Amino acid sequence: MASALDSAWQAVTGNFSEFQLATLVTFLIHETAFFLSGLPSLLFERFGLFAKYKIQKKSNTSAYQIRCVLRLILYHVCVNLPIMIFSYPAFKFMGLRSSLPLPHWTVVVSQVVFYFLLEDFIFYWGHRALHTKWLYKHVHSVHHEYATPFGLASEYAHPAEILFLGFATVAGPAITGPHMLTLWIWIVLRVVETVEAHSGYHFPWSPSNFLPLYGGSEFHDYHHRVLYTKSGNYASTFVYMDWLFGTDKDYRKAKAVEEKEGKKKL
Ligand SMILES: [Zn+2]
Ligand SMILES: [Zn+2]
Repeated sequence: MASALDSAWQAVTGNFSEFQLATLVTFLIHETAFFLSGLPSLLFERFGLFAKYKIQKKSNTSAYQIRCVLRLILYHVCVNLPIMIFSYPAFKFMGLRSSLPLPHWTVVVSQVVFYFLLEDFIFYWGHRALHTKWLYKHVHSVHHEYATPFGLASEYAHPAEILFLGFATVAGPAITGPHMLTLWIWIVLRVVETVEAHSGYHFPWSPSNFLPLYGGSEFHDYHHRVLYTKSGNYASTFVYMDWLFGTDKDYRKAKAVEEKEGKKKL
């Protein structure tokens, strides 16, 4: 089994230099994961599908959705790709490798769990800072232009915020110097997680129904639809940071009222 995986890895990566894998291929993996996971919720909203699972009654116009997608492509090419290129030497220095052997699955899982916890911690404090008056007005309000989020709006942000989010995302891998495979698995999972959180839909099969401490779409949708000084729910993935620091109180109250009334009124 291990040797079959090794051969598959060799077949996929053998034609690229490590620099190409860390930059161009990583960029393409990110784009593929992002647009494939983000497109369904955009189409659901566009065609009114699964309306009973939509968190907000409001919908974005197609012009507003297209504007988001075009800017994302521009930012991805002009901000994300250069970041990948310029940060490669640092990753290399910290031990990033694409050579065989592949890491044991226990190493992959423990590193990815660590990345999620670290990213969530950094994101919480950075995001809280972004909700202070000056930073909100000049930087973070761009991300909040979409008060009714949809999956692809997750990465729609001011370039300065993209830099900060990029830092939170790569901090774990930068510290641990992982195998390229682990880096790709982390990027795909993180993208799918943030796209789901912004999807605007809460399904019976949404991960927050099964994973303890996981925030998901309900948790982050509230953050987008409430006034920026009152929104709370600053963490990216989990709910415990907001619980620990008391920034989820309004959300909990609103949810309790909603459950008491037995209907979705928000
Ligand atoms: Zn925010
Ligand atoms: Zn958001």
